[in-house]
Amino acid sequence: MSTKATVEKLVSLCKRRGLVFQSSEIYGGIGGFWDYGPLGVELKNNIKQAWWRAVVQERDDVVGQDAAIVMNPTVWRASGHLDTFADPMVDCKECKKRFRADALVGEVAASAHGHEAAAEVTRCPECGGELTPPRMFNLMFKTYVGAVEDDASVAYLRPETAQGIFVNFANVLTATRKKLPLGIAQIGKAFRNEITPGNFIFRDREFEQMEIEYFVKPGTDEQWHQHWVEERYNWYLRLGMHKENVRVRQLDRDELAHYAKDTYEVEYLFPMGWSELEGIANRTDFDLRRHAEFSGRDLEYFDEETGEHIVPFVIEPSAGVDRLFMAFLIDAYDEEEVRGETRVILRLHKDLAPIKVAVLPLSRQEKLVPPAREVWALVRKHWMSQYDDAQSIGRRYRRQDEVGTPLCVTVDFDTLEDQAVTIRERDSMEQVRVPIAGLVAALRERLEAGD
Ligand code: ATP
Repeated sequence: MSTKATVEKLVSLCKRRGLVFQSSEIYGGIGGFWDYGPLGVELKNNIKQAWWRAVVQERDDVVGQDAAIVMNPTVWRASGHLDTFADPMVDCKECKKRFRADALVGEVAASAHGHEAAAEVTRCPECGGELTPPRMFNLMFKTYVGAVEDDASVAYLRPETAQGIFVNFANVLTATRKKLPLGIAQIGKAFRNEITPGNFIFRDREFEQMEIEYFVKPGTDEQWHQHWVEERYNWYLRLGMHKENVRVRQLDRDELAHYAKDTYEVEYLFPMGWSELEGIANRTDFDLRRHAEFSGRDLEYFDEETGEHIVPFVIEPSAGVDRLFMAFLIDAYDEEEVRGETRVILRLHKDLAPIKVAVLPLSRQEKLVPPAREVWALVRKHWMSQYDDAQSIGRRYRRQDEVGTPLCVTVDFDTLEDQAVTIRERDSMEQVRVPIAGLVAALRERLEAGD
């Protein structure tokens, strides 16, 4: 983690510069829900694009899909979510605060895990009041489909995107005529009625997931599991995360979900400590077997090599867009002294930066407006860009540094004579003069190097 980034600084920057706002803020907000502003939506889209490119576009064994958020409720019976997707909840009888009992146990005795241990904590960590015994609380949001609100019309907002992939396994296999190993990737919203949302956008009630279900022949699962752990870890480093802030941790047996044979987590050193960015689980054949059983459909795969029908095993890399958003920001955040002033700078990877190029006329002098607008027209066809002519040029550079814009293009009075502009680089603050005729090529060289 950048030692200079605190959650407070980040929240303030995100609000001030239009990255993240509290949802329905004018009404006092609503816990666990966030809105992404003009620059936030760009960064979020860039994270999703970088992921899609790495796991779908650049591979020949993964295809994409986009399933509905609301599914037939039997899906959640088959997946086990209706029975087991619950956290133990306790209330303080004095101050009425609500806590996740297993998280309290974690705080009180870092070594303790699991719900049994939850019963050990009986006092409120805030006021010392007596706590209620833990009650299990299902995290799925319930709704009704159609006009009648009865038991038969109950449906759920999906708490993970994964199940939309499992139920489409046979459809995708038939439609693509692919062989195993085959991955199906999906990006989409998920909803969990978390008992204690918090740490800014780290734990939300509405969030986005990027998940791959990678179907393999049983017996090859462990080797593919290792492959995906490496792939995913390296993806973070390729996008510029500092190596010392990212680690892979294999979960202990008692931390594993009931369906998992083995799980690794990619963790990031957030200001609140090492926390999960992404889980990479070996889900075995649990999901396909359950869906075959509950739907009565044949979800087996015919292995032409051996002439056998098999139920594939599944490796699942599952990451949260919002958590990655926060981690990339923290990792990129830096402050440095420049000529007696503090320069706040987001050293975001160029692929992630919300704005790639800012076009800045040196002043608002009328003569500079037409060439500056022309330069902007050239640039905006290729990259997300911004035109800014308010306040001094130094101020405008700082504003772009603060949101991670890798390149600024300045149009000055010499431009009127020499038909050239200055490119200023965010990290080094180096400036080079290039002819307008060669500007797009010069920007491309800097923005697309290494692609
Ligand atoms: P945690 O232990 O932090 O609650 P989890 O193990 O329940 O997470 P998974 O079910 O494995 O999480 O979900 C996969 C990924 O989805 C997580 O690694 C995380 O990035 C993201 N995610 C899960 N829950 C949330 C949430 N409430 N808010 C934001 N992102 C989330």
